[in-house]
Amino acid sequence: MPNFDYEAPTSLAEALELMARPGEVRALSGGTDIIDQLKNNRRNADLVVDMKRIPQLSLIETNGAGLRIGAAVSCTEVHKFTSESGGYPALTESTELVGSVHIQNRASVGGNVCNAAPSADTIPSLLIHEAIAHTASASGEREIPLIDFFAGPGQTVLEKGEILKEVVLPTPSENTASAYLRFIPRNEMDIAVAGVGSLVEVDPSTNVVKKARIALASVAPTPVRAYTAEEYLEGKEITPETINEAANIAVQSAVPITDVRGSAEYRKELVKVLTKRTLNICMERLA
Ligand SMILES: Cc1cc2nc3c(=O)[nH]c(=O)nc-3n(C[C@H](O)[C@H](O)[C@H](O)COP(=O)(O)OP(=O)(O)OC[C@H]3O[C@@H](n4cnc5c(N)ncnc54)[C@H](O)[C@@H]3O)c2cc1C
Repeated sequence: MPNFDYEAPTSLAEALELMARPGEVRALSGGTDIIDQLKNNRRNADLVVDMKRIPQLSLIETNGAGLRIGAAVSCTEVHKFTSESGGYPALTESTELVGSVHIQNRASVGGNVCNAAPSADTIPSLLIHEAIAHTASASGEREIPLIDFFAGPGQTVLEKGEILKEVVLPTPSENTASAYLRFIPRNEMDIAVAGVGSLVEVDPSTNVVKKARIALASVAPTPVRAYTAEEYLEGKEITPETINEAANIAVQSAVPITDVRGSAEYRKELVKVLTKRTLNICMERLA
């Protein structure tokens, strides 16, 4: 591996000062992506700044604003916290899918987001819960709707010296359910051929959908929302027929490539199947 300097600051202020230094400075949360990328010359770094020792970035809590997940909180901790608190089942499910138990113990949700892989498993769950990315740099802070955070495969809108501080998910309304499913050729330790997160809020007296959110992984250069399918569902009674139609429409938001994991057509079919299944799971959870 090429040489680089390594710093492990214990305060956010110190980390931001280090991130602002000249040259290629990269953040590290769990290191499960970045170390491999540095080793294989897919990224370079003069300085790596470890975020794990900054208390503020290792905090997960619910408060008036909703669920706050510090950028360095591991998938294991997010899984445990949301399993116990409830309210974000799609996130509970997706954090348990990242790699293996060992990977989940190191890998952070923040790193999954900043790595910006189109296949990242936690991102659709964050998108359907309308997460906001809170960032910080030496020159100030920003709040960016997560849907606007991705600029391409492996690319985010973060500027030089800017880090993700936390993601905040608003508290879901009552009568809301969510679910995440992905398809991989093996049972674990593989990258999603396609992934779908769905969230629905219904009026319990009529079963009419008040809010629908559907997000897709691995079928476009960035994670995407299936806006047309969401609009189709909202205001309609949720039935097997409307779920089927929403699943058909969701495919329109997928612009997949053909690669070693599957053809574009196969991925579109997976979007249809996984959208239908996640919406059905939401309905089971609301029953
Ligand atoms: C064996 C294996 C299996 C895997 N399986 C899956 C899987 O099933 N699903 C999946 O989605 N991923 C998977 N991954 C990828 C990886 O584990 C996840 O993307 C993980 O969530 C990354 O988190 P991390 O904390 O390790 O990130 P890191 O490696 O620390 O960082 C990832 C990127 O984000 C940047 N970064 C980190 N923190 C910040 C911050 N606070 N601000 C700004 N930038 C930051 C880094 O500079 C780097 O570019 C797997 C990886 C391995 C090695």
